[in-house]
Amino acid sequence: MLKLNLDNKDEFVSIEKSPYAQKGHSNLVKLWAKCPVCGKDVNNEKGQIVLLGKWEENGEHKRHDIFTLTDKFDDYRIEFPENFDAKKDMTVEFICPSCKSSLLLESKHDCKCGSPCFMLTAFSKSIITLCSRTGCKEHMLYLNKDDTWPFIRQIYTDSAQ
Ligand SMILES: [Zn+2]
Ligand SMILES: [Zn+2]
Repeated sequence: MLKLNLDNKDEFVSIEKSPYAQKGHSNLVKLWAKCPVCGKDVNNEKGQIVLLGKWEENGEHKRHDIFTLTDKFDDYRIEFPENFDAKKDMTVEFICPSCKSSLLLESKHDCKCGSPCFMLTAFSKSIITLCSRTGCKEHMLYLNKDDTWPFIRQIYTDSAQ
């Protein structure tokens, strides 16, 4: 279980309050994500976030396969494994493909829907938390002040082209 350390709240700024989001472009924020345990990148060559997911079907033994998440903040598209029924209401335990650590957060950070959340490091010091239940769109980006300007400028340039 991972711990989410937000004790020093002054280090983080809300994405909604960033000048970038106020211009209505928050869905264009590209998440460059890393495993919070080993620090390895989890984006593939297209930029998508690739994680290993474990799930249990009808109380049977756990299955595991690759889940591919979009790198765009506020975009919920996921490429599910072929043997995964995305229409079912299921909770997936996401795992780092490099070090195989569970990315689940300790239970005090459970989502409003009651399912556990998992976390990734975004950019260099920011944190993203996401609900592990398919169909739940709860997610948070804790934007670290050190990350704000370089990436906002980068994305602004991209979207202006
Ligand atoms: Zn890792
Ligand atoms: Zn949820």
